[in-house]
Amino acid sequence: MKEKDFATMQIHGGSIEQENIRPLVSPIYQSATFYFDSVEQGAAMFAGEEDGYFYTRIDNPNQRELAARLAELEGGEAGLVFASGMGAISSALLSLLSSGDHVIACKTLYGCTYELLNEGFPRFNIDVDFVDLCQTENLKASLRPETKVVYIETPANPNLKIMNIKELSEIAHAFNPEIKVLVDNTFATPYLQRPLELGADISLHSATKYLNGHGDVIAGALVASAEMVELIAGNGLRYLTGAVLSPFECYLICRGLKTLDIRMEKHCANAQAVAEFLEQDERVQRVLYPGLESHPDYKLAQEQMMLPGAMISFELDGDKDYCASFVNECKLCRRAVSLGDAETLIQHPASMTHNTYSPEALEDADIAQNLLRISIGLESATDIIEDLKQALDACSC
Ligand code: PLP
Repeated sequence: MKEKDFATMQIHGGSIEQENIRPLVSPIYQSATFYFDSVEQGAAMFAGEEDGYFYTRIDNPNQRELAARLAELEGGEAGLVFASGMGAISSALLSLLSSGDHVIACKTLYGCTYELLNEGFPRFNIDVDFVDLCQTENLKASLRPETKVVYIETPANPNLKIMNIKELSEIAHAFNPEIKVLVDNTFATPYLQRPLELGADISLHSATKYLNGHGDVIAGALVASAEMVELIAGNGLRYLTGAVLSPFECYLICRGLKTLDIRMEKHCANAQAVAEFLEQDERVQRVLYPGLESHPDYKLAQEQMMLPGAMISFELDGDKDYCASFVNECKLCRRAVSLGDAETLIQHPASMTHNTYSPEALEDADIAQNLLRISIGLESATDIIEDLKQALDACSC
């Protein structure tokens, strides 16, 4: 490079050779494009005849590392990462559905997933039925020859309903092996629940939550068969949504993933203690936590999940204003949406994450106006309980 002009050297000088460099942590390949040795090599890569990187919207070493790591954790053949959880969900659905198709989705869904299915897809002549899939026989009654996708969220956001992934997958596949069963595994993470091993076709994630775990990234992911991942990469990610995750964010999630198991163990232990505290307080009407025996699907949660997770929803004995004053009194627990962070986060689903539901749809999905959702963090359980107790005391005087 020595003979080259200043302008050339300021771009190309000192480029790092990879040979004999063995970093413990993968470097961040913050490069939009990758050069070819020859035109022929570029053509071979575009044709899929030679493996390699040429453009970060298509593939990048950091994306590949994260996707492969997630696939291993989920027990799937391949993974794909996205710019958000909604990017993963919309890419998967857009890749699988066409005009005239039918989708069966569970009634309780994250608010934007519900909106996509309730408002978005019907505009393209895709029919969506929202069904109570906690009762598996309801799936049998709803399946049609045009059904292409069964969409499940378990534990469901925000009311922690649990659906039987194994039975629902068996019913759907027995009716038509071509039906794809999609499970949003965000609340559980692959540490607690592995949908593919239970018979589902695609496991979806908002990696914004526990997978990253530190509240500083928006990201999504899915794990499925290699064939399915190739289809979604080609159809959904590459030319329909382009919802690409940046190399730096892949790096951050890879870093976060290194502590997923120990974080989940502590999140769950804290959540169990908080749920037990809430259940014994008479100012709390109902606690929805799969780790309590009072949960309608306590047994199923024990079979399907390694631990019950760290999301709790509870209804206070009062109206929406009483709930607001309680949340406003919280001092340690942060008033914020999202979940899976080190900080405990509390929010009011009916007016926040689920305001995409009409009042009738909220009632139908069992999301009450006095329901609060809390994502239990990694602080001391005693301090979280103390904060909730002082907030209950303050708003009850
Ligand atoms: N799925 C669930 C269960 C969620 O809670 C969320 C977001 O809160 C999403 C999907 C969407 O993820 P993102 O916000 O990363 O797009």
